[in-house]
Amino acid sequence: MDISIVGAGAGGAAAAYSLRDHDVTVFEKSRGVCGRAATRRRNDCVYDYGANYVKADDDRVTELLTATLDSTGLVDIEEPVYTFDAAGTVSEGRDADDHKWTYTEGLTQIAKRLFARTDATVHRETRVGSLTRLDDGWRVHDPEDEDLGTFDAVLLNPPAPQTADILRESDWSGEVYSDLLTAVEAVDYRTIYSCVLGYEFALETPWYGLVNTDREHDCGWLSREDLKDGHVPDGETLLVAQMSPEWSTRRYDDDPEAVCADAAAIVADLLGDERLADPAWHDSQGWRYALPDGGVADAPLRAAERHDLYCVGDWVAGDGRVHLALRSGLAVADRLQNT
Ligand SMILES: Cc1cc2nc3c(=O)[nH]c(=O)nc-3n(C[C@H](O)[C@H](O)[C@H](O)COP(=O)(O)OP(=O)(O)OC[C@H]3O[C@@H](n4cnc5c(N)ncnc54)[C@H](O)[C@@H]3O)c2cc1C
Repeated sequence: MDISIVGAGAGGAAAAYSLRDHDVTVFEKSRGVCGRAATRRRNDCVYDYGANYVKADDDRVTELLTATLDSTGLVDIEEPVYTFDAAGTVSEGRDADDHKWTYTEGLTQIAKRLFARTDATVHRETRVGSLTRLDDGWRVHDPEDEDLGTFDAVLLNPPAPQTADILRESDWSGEVYSDLLTAVEAVDYRTIYSCVLGYEFALETPWYGLVNTDREHDCGWLSREDLKDGHVPDGETLLVAQMSPEWSTRRYDDDPEAVCADAAAIVADLLGDERLADPAWHDSQGWRYALPDGGVADAPLRAAERHDLYCVGDWVAGDGRVHLALRSGLAVADRLQNT
């Protein structure tokens, strides 16, 4: 079977891995793979600036990461996650995660290692704009309507709003199409602005991460990349501050310099350490479609599958988690191969 996967996120990569006995062609709009499980290198540091880690909440995914794929460099963050409230009071607890995994080279290793086990052709910097329904299969087009090929089946891995963009531009009609589009358009997302703050001194904390449980603070999550093996040179600190959806939405289009300066001041205030207001360097990324607010109606997706069109990703699984995106990719591949 000739199969096209649109998007090389964790979900798309897991599907490509499971479909490795078929001819798989992947179109990914960005330069790298693994989507929101994203890693950068700068100033001798490696940092995960989207997802922070993968949880061991799914047996099949756990086996994939720890046994099936090469687990060299798999890092299990040992320090706990603490909580804080609107007033900035930090408390122990809520570290429900048995394992918190990344890699010394960062989370993008997940997709890289999955693709390395396949013969899939991965076209990077290739955005898909639309699809055309054929009598048997699908034609895939870029946004300028250039033909990217015809396939027996297509998997759509972008976040729901970007999947909806593709569907709206597509040449397909009928009840299955309109029900699918309505279901995909109904999935809302939270926006998160990630600020990465580098310091040339070591920090002592009893926690790896802090999560704001009442969702009333301007900072939603704060964690230490320097506690991930291989990420940060000794004697330095690298904090990732993920700002609340409200704050992130308000500041989304502002100058990143100003946004990071304000985020650093909020972090300094939260930890009661004035030194943190003045990082030696910073980086940032706005994630407009960071986390889906719940899942999608299942029936319209299953109906589209009978027309060889599959949706895959965290929003299909019902929550914004890397392990759920991976599981969604494996599950969709199972269904495709069993039709
Ligand atoms: C700030 C932040 C913090 C997070 N923290 C955690 C965490 O700690 N733990 C956790 O488990 N999860 C976390 N998540 C969620 C996690 O990152 C996602 O659930 C998971 O990575 C989603 O994978 P996916 O394959 O569904 O989608 P994505 O990773 O979004 O992959 C979709 C891919 O499709 C590509 N694409 C989009 N449109 C097109 C197009 N038209 N043509 C071609 N390609 C296209 C994109 O470039 C992308 O590579 C976090 C997310 C964010 C943003």
